[in-house]
Amino acid sequence: PTQTQIGLMSHEELRSEHERQSEKYEQLKAEKLVLDLTRGKPSPEQLDLSEALLALPGEGDHRDGGGTDVRNYGGLAGLPELRAIFGELLNVPTANLLAGNNASLEIMHDLVVFSLLHGNVDSPRPWVQEPKVKFLCPAPGYDRHFAITESFGIEMIPVPIRPDGPDVAAVARLVADDPQIKGMWVVPTYSNPTGAVYSEEVVRALVSMPTAADDFRLFWDNAYAVHPLTEEFAPAYDVLGLAAAAGNPNRPFVFASTSKVTFAGAGVSFFGSSDANLAWYQKHVGKKSIGPDKVNQLRHLRFFGDVDGVRAHMAKHREILAPKFAAVLRILEDRLGPTKVASWTEPRGGYFISLDVVPGTAKRVIALAKDAGIALTAAGSAFPYSTDPDDMNIRLAPSFPSMADLETAMDGVATCVLLAATEHALDDA
Ligand code: PMP
Repeated sequence: PTQTQIGLMSHEELRSEHERQSEKYEQLKAEKLVLDLTRGKPSPEQLDLSEALLALPGEGDHRDGGGTDVRNYGGLAGLPELRAIFGELLNVPTANLLAGNNASLEIMHDLVVFSLLHGNVDSPRPWVQEPKVKFLCPAPGYDRHFAITESFGIEMIPVPIRPDGPDVAAVARLVADDPQIKGMWVVPTYSNPTGAVYSEEVVRALVSMPTAADDFRLFWDNAYAVHPLTEEFAPAYDVLGLAAAAGNPNRPFVFASTSKVTFAGAGVSFFGSSDANLAWYQKHVGKKSIGPDKVNQLRHLRFFGDVDGVRAHMAKHREILAPKFAAVLRILEDRLGPTKVASWTEPRGGYFISLDVVPGTAKRVIALAKDAGIALTAAGSAFPYSTDPDDMNIRLAPSFPSMADLETAMDGVATCVLLAATEHALDDA
């Protein structure tokens, strides 16, 4: 039955459909599964691709090309040769890209804190002295972004995201009128969780739109810049150059990391921005650190060698990930395609599939799955304040489970979606 068919069913028909789905669900529960689709972590097999890192740079290898002894203090900007590699991949000049420690999220957090306490280079005063600070949040989006702004009491304004990025007309209207809007979270490539890839028009609009706040910043998190699921890499736009050309050189804060390239817990992060922004950031970050872990940076430099080394390495990830994404999409289509009670994204890269179920049933689907031993990301977690206004979105993370577990889990999720849909229709009837 399609969703409309469910709507057209007689009470009797609905009851028997519900009975059928309930039986399937009881069978699922009897399997006593313990499966987890919650977080976008690399699988052990993916981590093994970078196992050689553990023996690098190796005893006696402790100087970079410029002669810096990486074992010592200093070098706040990070190793130039590694910055050059990722600068090319991210389309950011080496001079405007810093290499840091293991988490880009930490840099984002610092930038919000520094802005609150000190103001950024274009701020008339520290953000904490404003009556209110607001951020635009394309949603569904990355829960940890929203957690940072929520934790500091920054008001989050959701904006709908489309396959080519947010509705820029709506964004432009908001930022033009409201000087309290100081920032916007952006995941421009294979966004978390919808897989959206921002188009060039959207990128140009975001860097050039007039903003009521002079110190408005785009938190441009290009976490999945080199993570296609096909052979084609998405373009990395010269966001700093485009912003400068539009007269807003300080607007973008660009982030990336090797968390989903090498080791999620022991990679290298990157921060790209204008000269003025980098000087401001280094002035403040220099108070909390004398320099990043350059041994880890040298290890990564040796491991990759060059830009092609990164691309070749990502092709190995793709060989592991693409079949998992294909399996999830196949099961969704097989089980939910005919009934059309759900829709989902078909990402060309990144780590997630965004599943939209019958409005009002996402929480129920997640609870049903939990009772059947299948852990899904908490309902609403991809929205500001963890609140999905339509209670319909579920983020699926196919990377971590084995193929067999993934297939079992997805089949179970499909059963939960169908059961929740018939329950919902019965309630309405
Ligand atoms: N940004 C996005 C969009 C992510 O999905 C993730 C990881 N899930 C991160 C940042 C985390 O990056 P890092 O490990 O560098 O802190």
